[in-house]
Amino acid sequence: MNFLLILAVGLVMGCAGKFQYYDPQKPHRTKDGFVNNYDNSPRPSVWKWRWERLWTNFPEDPPEGAPTEKISLGSLHLKRTRALTWFGQSSVLVQLQGVNVLTDPIFSSRASPVSFAGPKRYGDLPIEMNELPHIDVVVISHNHYDHMDLPTLKALQMYGLGKTRFLVPLGLKKLLEDEGLTNVTEFDWWESTVIGPLHLTFTPVQHWSARSLWDQNLTLWGGWMISVPKFQVFFAGDSGYSKDFQDIYERLGAPDLALLPIGAYAPRWFMKHMHMDTAEAVKVHQDLHAKLSVPIHWGTFKLSDEPLLEPPEKLRDSIKKANLSESVFHIMKRGETLLLEDNELKNGLWYESVQN
Ligand code: ZN
Ligand code: ZN
Repeated sequence: MNFLLILAVGLVMGCAGKFQYYDPQKPHRTKDGFVNNYDNSPRPSVWKWRWERLWTNFPEDPPEGAPTEKISLGSLHLKRTRALTWFGQSSVLVQLQGVNVLTDPIFSSRASPVSFAGPKRYGDLPIEMNELPHIDVVVISHNHYDHMDLPTLKALQMYGLGKTRFLVPLGLKKLLEDEGLTNVTEFDWWESTVIGPLHLTFTPVQHWSARSLWDQNLTLWGGWMISVPKFQVFFAGDSGYSKDFQDIYERLGAPDLALLPIGAYAPRWFMKHMHMDTAEAVKVHQDLHAKLSVPIHWGTFKLSDEPLLEPPEKLRDSIKKANLSESVFHIMKRGETLLLEDNELKNGLWYESVQN
C-alpha cells in the first residue's frame, strides 16, 4: 500500500516535472520558468487593478486612435536601403539593404485570443496585409496578444509563399508550427543568426509572458538588434526600465535607431515592472546611446489606464526635462515612412519623412 502511495506521488510529481528549459548555468532559466535579469519582484494583483478600475470614470478616447496616413498601393515596394514604416502598436516594417523585416505584426481588429471580444483596434489600418511587400523576416518579441497575433502570422506565411522566416523567443516554436507556420527558429537571449546582409540578435528586456492562466513565463520575451554593416536598429518589444539596456549597449554597441515602447504605463503601481513610462523611455534612449528613437506601443490598443493619446504628449515633456533636443525622438504617424540615409542631411537631420 505504502509502495503504491509513493509510486502515485512520484508519478504526479514526475508529471509536474521540471521546466523543459531549466538550465542551472543560466539564471533566467529556472526550474519553474523564465525570469528577468534584474527585477523579479512579484507582479501586483491584476484583480486589485480591475477592482479599482470599476470605480473610476475614464474619459472617452477618440475612436480614430493615433494619427494615421493611408499608404498608397505599391509605395512600400520601392527598393529602399534604410527605411522604417510604423503600422501601429509594435508593428514596424524595417527595410535594410533590400531585406524586409516586420516586427510583432498585428493586423487584426482585436488583440485577443477571440475575434469577438478583447481590446479593439482604434482607427483604420494604414495598409491592408495583401498590399505589403514580400516580408523576408518576422521577429517576435513575446507571446502577448498585441505582439504575437496568429491570424496575422498565418496570413504572412501564406503571402510569403512559405519563404518568410519567423524568429521567435525560446519556447514558441512548437505553438507556431502546430498552427502551420514553417521556417520558425527560436532564440535564447544573446543568440543570433545571419540572414543575407542582416545580423539579428535576441536580447533580454524586462517583461513576462502568458497567453492563458496556465502558461505564465513558460516562454521567453526579449528585444531584437537588427544590424547591417555601419547601421543597426534596436526593437525593444515590450519592457519595463532595467539595466538590460546598458548591457545591450555594452555587448552590441549603440543602435542608430531604437524602437521604444511608450504606452500602457498607467497605473504605475501595476505597470512599472512590465512597461516603461515616457521618462524611462528617454532614459533607455540614453542608456542605449541611440542616435534616434521612435516611440511605438501606443495609440492602437487600449491596454491600460492612461488616455490613449497621452503617451506622445508626456514623451515631449520627458525629453524637455532631460534637457535633450526634441529631435532625438521622432513621433511617427501610423503609415508614415522614415528614410534613414546617413549621407543625406536634410534640415540638419539625417532622416527624412516621406509621403506614401
Ligand atoms: Zn507584453
Ligand atoms: Zn504590449
